[in-house]
Amino acid sequence: MNTAEYPIEPDKIFCFMRIFGSPQVRRKYLLIPAMPTPNGRLHLGHMGGPFLKMDILARLYRRNGHQAEVMSASDVYESYTLMKSFRTHLPVKTVCNDFHELIVKDLSAMMVECSHYFNPLEETFRTTVDDTYRDTLEKITAAGAVVKRTEKVLYSPSADKYIVGTWLKGKCPHCHSDAGSYLCEACGMQFNPEDVLEPAAVTGETDLEEVTVDSFFLKITQPEALIAHIQKMGVPDINLEIVQRYLTHYNNEVRLTNPGKWGVKWQDDIWRGENYNVVFPYSGLLSLSRVCGGLYPGGQHPFSKDSDVITIASFGIDSTIPWFAGVLGSCLATDELKPFDYFLTNHFYRLEGSKFSTSRLHAIWAADIVNKTKASVDAVRYYLTKNNPEFEEKDFFVQDFISLNNHFLVERLNNQIEKCWHYLEPAEVQPISDSLLRALEAALETQSAYLEPPRQQLAESLTVFDSWVKRLTDKNIWKQQPYWALKSIALLAYPVMPKMSQALWTALSAAGAPSLEGFLAIEPVVKNASLPRFFEVLTYEDLLPCLPATLTQATTQSQTSSKILLDFMEPEVEAGIMEVREVNLINNDERIAPFKASRFEVYPGQQSPLDIHEVRECWFVSQGKGEVIYNGTEVVPVSSGDVLYFESNQSHQVTNTGEDQLIIFSVWWKE
Ligand SMILES: [Zn+2]
Repeated sequence: MNTAEYPIEPDKIFCFMRIFGSPQVRRKYLLIPAMPTPNGRLHLGHMGGPFLKMDILARLYRRNGHQAEVMSASDVYESYTLMKSFRTHLPVKTVCNDFHELIVKDLSAMMVECSHYFNPLEETFRTTVDDTYRDTLEKITAAGAVVKRTEKVLYSPSADKYIVGTWLKGKCPHCHSDAGSYLCEACGMQFNPEDVLEPAAVTGETDLEEVTVDSFFLKITQPEALIAHIQKMGVPDINLEIVQRYLTHYNNEVRLTNPGKWGVKWQDDIWRGENYNVVFPYSGLLSLSRVCGGLYPGGQHPFSKDSDVITIASFGIDSTIPWFAGVLGSCLATDELKPFDYFLTNHFYRLEGSKFSTSRLHAIWAADIVNKTKASVDAVRYYLTKNNPEFEEKDFFVQDFISLNNHFLVERLNNQIEKCWHYLEPAEVQPISDSLLRALEAALETQSAYLEPPRQQLAESLTVFDSWVKRLTDKNIWKQQPYWALKSIALLAYPVMPKMSQALWTALSAAGAPSLEGFLAIEPVVKNASLPRFFEVLTYEDLLPCLPATLTQATTQSQTSSKILLDFMEPEVEAGIMEVREVNLINNDERIAPFKASRFEVYPGQQSPLDIHEVRECWFVSQGKGEVIYNGTEVVPVSSGDVLYFESNQSHQVTNTGEDQLIIFSVWWKE
């Protein structure tokens, strides 16, 4: 989608309204970035998606004199937390609590400031959250908008679980892409488990029985009203198309509950007493938003019918159905809840050409790039804003980031700031010149127009800042009005680069956070220290501590590429436990060896899965130490340099007992 489809109305750009000093209506906002699943940390893909966007908007509103609160929560009942629990052998609550804490750290490192980011499992929230989940469903039921449907799902007696949600894989019934759970990331459609083509259990259970369960669905009785509301929100056509396609295909019904035990119980399962029917996690998004609303200061609930709080949610395009059909549809059905005013969506963010992936560890974690490298949080935020997947898929390219940092932020911006600071004579500061003030007002107007919904254009908004920095290279400004040059940079940079902005603002003795209200006052500046350098020159090596192996290993391989060096296939990763890379022994469509081989790594303290097979196998321990259990009885300590042999059909498993990765090469063959 082209940004040209979202023109800013000319009168919004060129309206030279005097924004300083004129009384403003103080508006109230509640901004909700979609609740992330606490099955991993937050990476730059999450940040470049909903989080940074909501933080930028909140800072813009607050700077402009409005009240804006960012609130969200960890979506603990999303079934992917169960998979993480299964893989790590940790209780699901431990998984949720641990990753919740890490998510909080990632948000804070990226300076995404939430008034509340809560954990629904925490004692103070648990009852409220569970009650709200039930209350939302009760409201929809009372409105006569709930229908009960029987549906067929797969059940594994050996694992005692329904193969739905995180446990289900297969192909999307709509576009035939690989898909699982209830949603297709490729086409954005939501589906029912029974529609999935070639269904199978992700964890390999084969004793699958088809059973019949009851689930509850929201019946959207007035789809035209929903569509009209969505159109009024001014969203991109693609969202509307997905919603219309879904409603037509699924007879205007949106899932409210699903079979399973982990979640807020809705009603007893008729088929098995000990398995429950729980509130569908996507349906819980509205309830979690309502809990956020309950925390809004001032006692007014943003989702009550008469509320004047403007509510905005932000999420990835793959969540179109849950938010547009589920959340909005439920609000409209009850007539008791004020629907969201705006939705802001984003496309997928990739890391150097392939999707950010928590399970493959193909990710840069938010706190790592800020805390483990010289990169400034402002530089990361600036890059993510400039390179944002707001209208189409985008990539985080490491070299691109480095180049933007070194050329614009260090050479242009930081030098300009230092020049201004150098020429600043605190005793001689005069009121801002009329022409500079006029120009600044126009810049602020344009910036706000670019950042406010529904037609938010993050990347375009930076053109305002960039041209402002360019304007300041005029020596009539930096030599004669260095104070105003610096203060205007602080003001314009605040939404995207809060750290630098706040430091400048404070260095100029201005109180609080950068704001329109505090701009024109001239405070006595104490210029006894030099300003900190806000941006450092970066090299690729500087960033290595935060880069995943998926990037750094690819780099070394391509540098030393030779015919006699064999490639590895795509790794199979069990996050935090082990990684297996099979050696590619096919050359020109021909198998070059009578055996197969792989290299696998087991993380410290972790264990490989129990393996048993007909083929014979040898292991060559290349690094680390461990304990092999052979045939269920024999325990053999091993360390680097050891070679092991396993007979046909004898089980084997290794635990890493050392402090480093245990790396083993394996070859196997048939007699
Ligand atoms: Zn699909």
